[in-house]
Amino acid sequence: MLTLGIDIGSASSKAVIMGDGKELVATAVVQAGTGTSGPKRVTAEIFERSGVLPEQISATIATGYGRYGVDMADGQISEITCHAKGVHFLFPAARTILDIGGQDAKAISINENGRVLSFFMNEKCAAGTGRFLEVMARILEIPLSEMGDWDRKSEHPAVVSSTCTVFAESEVISQLSNGARREDVIRGVHNSVISRAMALLYRTHMEPAFVFTGGVAQNSGVVDSLRRELRQEVLVSPQAQLTGAIGAALLAQEKADQKGV
Ligand code: ADP
Repeated sequence: MLTLGIDIGSASSKAVIMGDGKELVATAVVQAGTGTSGPKRVTAEIFERSGVLPEQISATIATGYGRYGVDMADGQISEITCHAKGVHFLFPAARTILDIGGQDAKAISINENGRVLSFFMNEKCAAGTGRFLEVMARILEIPLSEMGDWDRKSEHPAVVSSTCTVFAESEVISQLSNGARREDVIRGVHNSVISRAMALLYRTHMEPAFVFTGGVAQNSGVVDSLRRELRQEVLVSPQAQLTGAIGAALLAQEKADQKGV
């Protein structure tokens, strides 16, 4: 049986087709989120890539900030539940999740069955989210996908102390104009994202294994900063940005099983 999970975030749209709740059949990511052409494009792309026809899908669950705009969905489930489900599938030992997406950050505690025990969220402020990194990457004139490589070169990390994106932007511009090296400023930017994330994580049970998900987990500089702060191993899947969509496809499978499709 094939099921579809669609995750419409603020920055990107993700889709996953799973087979029998066990196997990833196809994935698609479009770097445009809710309120854009992203949702339509990602659904077209997943069918085109997989060769699967829409009528072959037994159930579809939509998640993410834009989940109520997905017409073909049979149901909508919060991204907290979907991330927990997706992480449990990828890493059954996971107990604490940090998810940083385009405009929010979440720390989630789960149990051995992937059920959510508690969660804490920053959705009020761009600092500490992917949006903050997008702003900084633009000032630094470096693609987001290269931020991790630059971070590794840092020998004297800068300190980005402003807790507001707008002030941090001025702080970074003045550091650069005072001759700070880009790699050191980038390390400072990454550390600043993690210092905000730690405030959320400390409210959880802080039980290992730790898993980092969401688009920002693709930035190895931010991942390294989290490992240094936690002094623990942090598990990151190559599918980090797709975790919510994977969880949605798994929950679609459960829904189809219940209906006896
Ligand atoms: P949402 O679900 O809110 O749409 P995502 O989980 O897709 O957000 O995360 C988007 C963020 O991921 C971007 O703001 C950016 O910081 C980061 N990101 C996306 N692609 C990459 C990449 N290739 N390398 C590093 N970071 C990335």
